[in-house]
Amino acid sequence: MANYPWKWKGVLLTAPLKGDMDVVCELIEKKLAPAGVNLVIIQTRYRYEFKSHPECTGNEPMSEADVKQLLGVCRANNICLVPKMNLFAHQSGRLNGPRDGILHGYHEDEDIFPYTLDGLLKAYPEFNETPDIKTADYTFSLCLSNSDCARIVCDLMDEMLEVFEADALHIGCDEAFDIGLCPRCRGKDKVKLFADWVTMLHDHLAAKGAKTLMWGDRFINSETSGYNSAYDACTVGTEAAVKLIPKDIILCDWHYGKHEAYKSVDMFAEEGFKMFFSPWRIPENALAFYNYAKSHDKGHILGLLATTWCSSGELARAILYGEKPRWEKTQAVIDAWNEMLFQDP
Ligand SMILES: [Zn+2]
Repeated sequence: MANYPWKWKGVLLTAPLKGDMDVVCELIEKKLAPAGVNLVIIQTRYRYEFKSHPECTGNEPMSEADVKQLLGVCRANNICLVPKMNLFAHQSGRLNGPRDGILHGYHEDEDIFPYTLDGLLKAYPEFNETPDIKTADYTFSLCLSNSDCARIVCDLMDEMLEVFEADALHIGCDEAFDIGLCPRCRGKDKVKLFADWVTMLHDHLAAKGAKTLMWGDRFINSETSGYNSAYDACTVGTEAAVKLIPKDIILCDWHYGKHEAYKSVDMFAEEGFKMFFSPWRIPENALAFYNYAKSHDKGHILGLLATTWCSSGELARAILYGEKPRWEKTQAVIDAWNEMLFQDP
């Protein structure tokens, strides 16, 4: 790892399913720590047995003991453990297919894997920005003007920080398409709505001494950036919020495609933010992003944050024991890791 140029080397793992905690801890200890990984972000969503709001508990929740087990192995290996929630969009999802138990985004066969609501909207459907749409869409969003929603989200964040004993939280906020639509939000300025929400979450975390991480895609103009995407760049007009949010928010810039230039890397430097760059699973694309980040680092890049979006248990069994993953994209994640995580490009 002699050539790795950054302070932090992170991976984003999904919260282990029931029975997978031991093998995920083994992956961290035997493979990730020796590869120089010093940051593990756990995609929790609402998959925790919340005590403050048990009604918000999502599918396959981790217990407090589960989190403490993760924390133990991370601390023993000098790895920083950070929880991640989705606190704007992605309030619904589908299980990956073939079924690996992870509620994520999509599957080719909608009939077999229907969309379901995640913990918060299941308990409080009135927090949905588009409550009149009865079929859970790819990514339902929260209403950013609902003070009850804000209060409960803050309670849940507090509980995450406490159980993870964390000094940072990743608030998600990617791929939000529904903003300014409900009767409370209609007519409000979308840029201000989004910036105020993010600032509120940040200020709440900062008051507890915790840093805020979030995805960067809502701050990237789809056309001028050249990404030409509604997913890892924005087409709903919230980009200017980047000028209004606190500069100590750490932006996680995710792109899974191959581009000649990853202009957001430069833009976030110009705006004064620290950032991670986050590729996914196609080695060629991941390496293109990696190399762009390396050659365009203006001292603002904290490091790699490698995403997975598969079952962390399945990933661990494949890496440790060569077990064939049930989801084909899990193998691709391993292929990318072999190029950029387990060795330096
Ligand atoms: Zn609203």
